[in-house]
Amino acid sequence: MGPSVALPETGHRARCRIVVEGVVQGVGFRPFVYRLARAHRLGGSVRNGQHGVLIDAEGDRETIARFLDELQSSAPSLARLRHLSVSWTTPQHDGEVFRIETSSDEGQPALFPAPDLAVCSSCLAEMGHPEDRRHHYPFLNCTECGPRYTIIRALPYDRERTAMASFTMCPSCREEYEDVGDRRFHAEPTACPACGPRLALLNATGRVLEVAEPFQDVVAALRAGQIVALKGLGGYHLACDATAPAVVSELRRRKARDAKPLAVMVGSLDAALRLCIISNAEADLLQSSARPIVLLERRPEAGQEVADEVAPRLRHLGLMLPHTPLQHLLLGRLDRPLVMTSGNRSDEPIAYEDGDALARLGGIADLFLAHDRPIEVRCDDSVARCIDGAPLVLRRARGYVPLAISLIHEAPEPILACGGELKGVFALVRGREVFLSQHLGDLGDERAYRAWTDAIGHLQRLLELTPRVVAHDLHPGYRSTAYAQMLDGVSHVPVQHHHAHIASCLADNGIDARVIGVSWDGTGYGTDGHVWGGEFLLADLDGFERAGSFQEVPMPGGEAAVREPWRMAAVFLQAAYGEAMEELDLAFVRRLDRTAWRLLSRAAERGLNAPPTSSAGRLFDAVASLLGLRDRVDFEAQAAMELEALAAPEADRVYSVDLQERDGRIVVQTPDIFRGVVEDLLAEIGTEQIGSRFHATLADVIVRTCRRLRDRSGLDRVALSGGVFQNVKLLRLAVDGLGRSGFQVYTHHQVPPNDGGLALGQAAIASRLQEDGNRA
Ligand SMILES: [Zn+2]
Ligand SMILES: [Zn+2]
Repeated sequence: MGPSVALPETGHRARCRIVVEGVVQGVGFRPFVYRLARAHRLGGSVRNGQHGVLIDAEGDRETIARFLDELQSSAPSLARLRHLSVSWTTPQHDGEVFRIETSSDEGQPALFPAPDLAVCSSCLAEMGHPEDRRHHYPFLNCTECGPRYTIIRALPYDRERTAMASFTMCPSCREEYEDVGDRRFHAEPTACPACGPRLALLNATGRVLEVAEPFQDVVAALRAGQIVALKGLGGYHLACDATAPAVVSELRRRKARDAKPLAVMVGSLDAALRLCIISNAEADLLQSSARPIVLLERRPEAGQEVADEVAPRLRHLGLMLPHTPLQHLLLGRLDRPLVMTSGNRSDEPIAYEDGDALARLGGIADLFLAHDRPIEVRCDDSVARCIDGAPLVLRRARGYVPLAISLIHEAPEPILACGGELKGVFALVRGREVFLSQHLGDLGDERAYRAWTDAIGHLQRLLELTPRVVAHDLHPGYRSTAYAQMLDGVSHVPVQHHHAHIASCLADNGIDARVIGVSWDGTGYGTDGHVWGGEFLLADLDGFERAGSFQEVPMPGGEAAVREPWRMAAVFLQAAYGEAMEELDLAFVRRLDRTAWRLLSRAAERGLNAPPTSSAGRLFDAVASLLGLRDRVDFEAQAAMELEALAAPEADRVYSVDLQERDGRIVVQTPDIFRGVVEDLLAEIGTEQIGSRFHATLADVIVRTCRRLRDRSGLDRVALSGGVFQNVKLLRLAVDGLGRSGFQVYTHHQVPPNDGGLALGQAAIASRLQEDGNRA
């Protein structure tokens, strides 16, 4: 390559070096460049470098300019161009030959690994064609589709650095791979029945069963009510007939999963439409190349098509369409929806290694449908929903990870943001890009914690970076905090939990501005050591002021109060009525174990194991228990989800709630809300209407508090974040009310409002701090 020269004059021969950064490997980008260069009769070459895709192009100046335009305007749909740099060099007059060269090692690493992509329609057509050499072959793929992140061992993305390295291409596959006119030109994981991975059917003890077409046997087993472990892209699924109540109950029993909703896979959009009400935006999300589980409202008349045991008491169903060829083969032959849930027991991480899967799932599955293509990294299904036509990712994993999210501020040093505890997600920052990990489960579980630390190592190796700055939560009991503090030779950036939520919402929307942050969730460690969770912050990426919060109440028994919402109901009743609570003519009071309660409340009075909390999540729990929904929960937010599902569509009024000023802070008198609910119960108002009034009241509290904070601060932008805003009913009411009051409102889209989004907020705060430090 010659020295950099000035822009050549019009009509003159020119040569330029183009470096394209972004998701440009594994998405058919090089063949696209090749075809484009040929069409423009340019000479030169294209290759994968560690810096991105490198292009040398030579021709007359105008042609190169058109080539550059089209490079950006007509790139393959799956490519994400982040940055394109052009430098002009001396023409070499080496003709009009344009070549694709093998990978080059030059340059600094700036590669963006691609996420896994759902099988494309061309590949599906081949799989269904009896004359095609890939008929019924479940591992076919092309440059438009197939596994990526879950098979990559290192970058640049070439077959030798993937899980396909041990499969030698047959002459036919090699021919396609090398033919620039072919759909499989440089499709790194390409395979066929002669040379690629194969299915294997195993019984529960791991013995291989000799059968001709294993998937046919699996179809028969599923029809017969058996539970089958299926090896997928990022791990094993457990599948069973979703229409059979006894089978679904048996799966729950074996998996030790009491009530958490189970995902369902259907074969087509038509099949999904028979079960749920689906908008155009929701249909697009279902059919997107990420193929997430989409939460959809059930059709009331479709009651019996999916067993109640799949998602007890919930108005929504998590549906997904097949994303692998194998799932298409199975669903195409089964005339019914399948439960398709992560292959794990209870809260453990999904099993992805064959030996481990057999050991852990042996007591759950009757059969295993495995194959010999290794999974390099575990990656669960993503979960998303649509709110007013816009997607909201609730669990970010397969199909989205490791797509980067761009920050406003550039970090000169690589950052690791450790996230929270309940949703193990970390982030790595390189320059302006944040790479969020897949959701890895509750770090309180030993296996999940190990999966999380393994994933940190894996993504660091993939991106070839070593963090110099580590951001983490303030909670001294989080394992992610302990991990961060264990790291030597780095600078630590502790970030308050609810500040991180608001920063995450800012980063999700690509802004850095001072906002009124409404940060509501179940639990987060406050700067005063108390359990926060109903917070109003005046915040930007530089810092925050706690401008308002819910009235604190004790959590009798600490963590036990999270699992047993009846404790919080009793606490709020006492806060609202004092000793007179025991005289109230309420079903809750009649079933209250008074002995247990008196012991707890006496301990709480003496400050024994009753940490004060301003949590919004606990208020939801308390109301759910008071309404008789449940006194104990099996999983986080269960009571709140049921309260949302119960609430009538329209509220006719709100409860009156006092906003007190204390030490310059607004304190929301939450016991007032409880009094409103109790009076309605005594007046025999239906629980659906009470649930609705409760949601409307909280939205009203948000609007009133934000108005008062606007008067004080002049801020008119509001960011809504924290797990409570997974509640679509509350989110809609709050967004509408704030909008009517003239606020600009920011909500989440790319990352979850729950703790799965914390790492993004921590990363944004740490990179802002670094930029600041650099300037100083
Ligand atoms: Zn394809
Ligand atoms: Zn082959």
